[in-house]
Amino acid sequence: MEEKSFRRGGISVETAHIFPIIKKWLYSEKDIFLREIVSNATDAVTKLRRLTSLGQYDDKDEKYSVRVTLDKDEKTLTVSDNGIGMTEEELEKYICSIALSGALDFIRKYDDGNTNNGIIGHFGLGFYSSFMVSDTVELVTRSYTSDKAIRWTCDGSGQYEIDDGERDGHGTDVIMHISEDEAAYLEEFKIREILDKYCAFMSTDIFFEVVGDDKDEKSENNEPINETFPLWLKNASDCSDEEYTEFYKKVFRDFKEPLFHIHINADYPLNFKGVLYFPSRMNEYESYEGQVKLFYNQVFVADDIKEVIPDFLLMLKGVLDCPELPLNVSRSYLQDNAYVKKVSAHIVKKVADKICSLCNNDREKYEKIWSELKIFFEYAALRDKKFYDRVKSHYLLELTDGTYMTVQEYLKDCEEKHQNTVYYATDKAMQAQYISMFETEGYKVALLSHQLDMQFIGMCEAADGEIKYKRIDSDVSGIISSSSDVVSNESLAELFKTVSGNNALNVKFESLNNTSVPAILIVSEESRRMEDMMRMYAGMGMNVGELFPVEYTLVLNSASVLTQKIASLMETDSDKASLMASEVYKLALMSQRHMTADELKDFLSDSFKLLEML
Ligand code: ADP
Repeated sequence: MEEKSFRRGGISVETAHIFPIIKKWLYSEKDIFLREIVSNATDAVTKLRRLTSLGQYDDKDEKYSVRVTLDKDEKTLTVSDNGIGMTEEELEKYICSIALSGALDFIRKYDDGNTNNGIIGHFGLGFYSSFMVSDTVELVTRSYTSDKAIRWTCDGSGQYEIDDGERDGHGTDVIMHISEDEAAYLEEFKIREILDKYCAFMSTDIFFEVVGDDKDEKSENNEPINETFPLWLKNASDCSDEEYTEFYKKVFRDFKEPLFHIHINADYPLNFKGVLYFPSRMNEYESYEGQVKLFYNQVFVADDIKEVIPDFLLMLKGVLDCPELPLNVSRSYLQDNAYVKKVSAHIVKKVADKICSLCNNDREKYEKIWSELKIFFEYAALRDKKFYDRVKSHYLLELTDGTYMTVQEYLKDCEEKHQNTVYYATDKAMQAQYISMFETEGYKVALLSHQLDMQFIGMCEAADGEIKYKRIDSDVSGIISSSSDVVSNESLAELFKTVSGNNALNVKFESLNNTSVPAILIVSEESRRMEDMMRMYAGMGMNVGELFPVEYTLVLNSASVLTQKIASLMETDSDKASLMASEVYKLALMSQRHMTADELKDFLSDSFKLLEML
């Protein structure tokens, strides 16, 4: 009978301390143990494949796979691979010493008593993370160079034994005896959930099966749980739009089609791949819930890593696979890492490039998605000057007639009428009168109704000095008025000041082209923006002192029949004249702001009086 060699070993006193630490390590992220063990298994297969490609091994007829088996009777979770396996020397080297001291270094370096110290993905704990959920871990392995298997067993005390083992063919089984406290890891749905999250795109077929309980009804699993050649690894030219959409719907469980996608394939030295999607919303009240999944060689690491993808892009959904990322480090390290900064900048550039190419090459689609894209565009531009510089000439103005123009197109179109000024409205209904006056004169009016629009145009003006944005009620000289034939009337101006209840009201006379409009209220662009800003600060709870009032100017149309009529009535029937002036003032006010309760009450009673007089 062949003599069995039996070896015993004790982990050094120092390293023995590692077990209690591992056991409580990152309590909330215990799930990652399975990722570590399964990714070791797929690595073992990859290594053997590589040896084949180097001509050092012949793997013909090999069918590589990783099997995850949950045995409910034995209370074990086993991960088996038919990869490279380990010789005894390798086992000693990789499992008994180096890995352990590596893990110890890792803990020394990062265990600052805070279990949430943000080590991305907690890479580095590797094989030993299995002790987070197991009392005992067995490892049976046979190297591709050997016909003998060995068994290694280690319990939570840090004592291990090496023994001869049995195994058909090369590869490794890691048998985790799940501890009583961690019985959740004996539930099929739990294991499936972890495999789905972390292993869905690993590079070797992974099969999952459950045995035990009722063995006859063990779940049959002939389909791998993963996709070994995910979309992001393919060439963009080989992927159809349908494939991108299907991948999106499956991975993000979103039934709505994304607006567009960006396939990133960055070469040396950045060397990372990914697909990002711009999600669509049901309506403007739905918030964006982006999700950018970070992978490391097809192994899922974490969602939404701000260090890699700037936060203003976190409303995107997508996958990034960065095999060069130093993940075994803390977040603060990543923040200052030059490589990470380059990756992040590259992503921003790709998103900007996509926006430009959509605008240049598929204008119809671009206009169709603009209402959804605009907020993101403005927000990202406000946050990142480089992004702004890249995309600025592709900002679309939605015009009040429902068409779209870039700012350059708009300015070119209006060149003869006004230079370098974009006229806009913020409220299509309230400002309808001004809009119609502008449109009648052949001016195009942009619609900028969102608060962010104002911040965005403010930034555009600051960044590119020449172009100015003016609201259509800010200045009408020369646009909807003609400079000739203006007749001023001081006493009429006084009457309007009186009925407005504001003696400081600016009143001026113009000759509006539209003679049916007796008066309009205008407010200078600067004064209105200042007021908006103050209102915003006050809304944010900041003490801004007295809100200084907006200065309105009442423009009386000397060409209007009604204005002329009021002027002549002042001589004959002053009561009627002031009643009419009050009505005209309030009607002008209505296009500027909502009336107060008192103003509205007066307006209604004056209106009734006027009707009685008819
Ligand atoms: P890491 O994977 O980060 O190197 P681990 O502690 O997980 O650290 O593993 C240490 C080493 O043990 C691996 O680098 C590998 O050489 C070896 N190893 C672990 N699991 C397997 C396996 N299933 N097959 C072959 N070798 C393995």
